[in-house]
Amino acid sequence: MAVQVLCAWCNTTIREGDARKQSSHGICLQCVQGMGLFPTEDIRGLSQEQLDALPIGVIELDSRGIVRRYNATEARAAGLDARKVVGRHFFAEVAPCTSVQEFRGRCEAMMQSPRAERDEIEFVFRFRSGDRLAHLVFSWDPGADRLTILVDLLGDRADHAARAAACWRG
Ligand SMILES: [Zn+2]
Repeated sequence: MAVQVLCAWCNTTIREGDARKQSSHGICLQCVQGMGLFPTEDIRGLSQEQLDALPIGVIELDSRGIVRRYNATEARAAGLDARKVVGRHFFAEVAPCTSVQEFRGRCEAMMQSPRAERDEIEFVFRFRSGDRLAHLVFSWDPGADRLTILVDLLGDRADHAARAAACWRG
């Protein structure tokens, strides 16, 4: 029996399969309709162009915490140049305000798992000009050594880059 495929964003089942086997994470039809994208059974299989077109931020880390892919939406929101972020340590060098138990600790715990994992949190970025709530989804693919972080910043986006400067480093 094939592996089970879950939607990374909403956690619904995209394809039934053997849940005891390694599951993988895609994005379901329901979720992609608002994203201008085709449904996919493997979010990691999306090209850089497809990632850049998503309305949500996407950050891919390896188990050492090094940024491997970083999409345009996230770069815009954070006010960073994606080319300068890839290859750097996310928690230590890119976004030090995320280096707390509820964010970094949770990511590092997931990356210990030999199984695919998914988790989601509401995280408050504590920017200089005020708090900013974001909905975050983490999905861990041990076979590929990739943790994908999907970031949906809730509320007003317009002034985010200015606020972000207090937390996200360029
Ligand atoms: Zn979905």
